[in-house]
Amino acid sequence: MKWDDGLLDTLMAMGLMREGKRAEGLYLEECLAQAWAEPIIWRPNGKGRITGVFCCMEPDCAGAHIIEPERMRAWELDWDGLCCAVASAAKAGGPMHTDAESRVTMLGAITRGGLTRELFLVRGLSRRDGPGVFASAARLNASPNATVLFCGEMPEPQQRRPNWKTVLVLSEIITLHRGKLALPLHRLFEDQTLPAAPAGTAEAASGTLTQTELEVLQALAEGGDEPQLVVQLVAASGHKRDAVMQATRRLISMGLAERPGTSRRKGIAATQQGLRRVGRLPKMA
Ligand SMILES: [Zn+2]
Repeated sequence: MKWDDGLLDTLMAMGLMREGKRAEGLYLEECLAQAWAEPIIWRPNGKGRITGVFCCMEPDCAGAHIIEPERMRAWELDWDGLCCAVASAAKAGGPMHTDAESRVTMLGAITRGGLTRELFLVRGLSRRDGPGVFASAARLNASPNATVLFCGEMPEPQQRRPNWKTVLVLSEIITLHRGKLALPLHRLFEDQTLPAAPAGTAEAASGTLTQTELEVLQALAEGGDEPQLVVQLVAASGHKRDAVMQATRRLISMGLAERPGTSRRKGIAATQQGLRRVGRLPKMA
């Protein structure tokens, strides 16, 4: 999850985030290959500032990347603190219940205009065992009408269960107001069509693309599901590098493109939804 600095400071001050162990690597957005890099961190001559160096093997690239270790600082969520803050913002009542190895928490019941929902917060889907999280989320599976908020990532549309009436990404709806988290309560009761058009698919199928985004997606789709480097997309789409990178970020956020599943393969690929969107795969019935 990316935070702007002001929000991070506020969340740390609220006790919702704390600094954790430094990450081992990062995506080098300045590298033409956008490679996953694990720099060597060292202190020249045993004194002075510590520095990270990554020797890039990409033929089109300059060679060594100097990386400020600051960029690899990592923050951890205080899960209990976040659950309490979100429950309070959502005016959820009743006892909380956590399961699935502390990755799924029921925050309580929420009510609006005669509707009642049970509100859940889910995290850690990007971890290797993420897709299995729901199997052990007994309380969520037992809920007749859940509103499910995801920290960071939405599950694949096919994982969505019929009892998840509303699914939302927490960071997309939460705001800070006078040092407190605020949620647009009406969105927690959104009537999302189920199960024919899960949220991700609906957005991917219908979200508006700019001309640049469309052309970058077409360039991605040329390669099928093979990942492509930004430098290739620049050549294929005819757009400048910054525009290509901005477009790929949006396509990724819409589920139309992805970085390959393993962190060490380079580049960006169109997803099945992305291919479908530009007519490379048949539309879903
Ligand atoms: Zn490089």
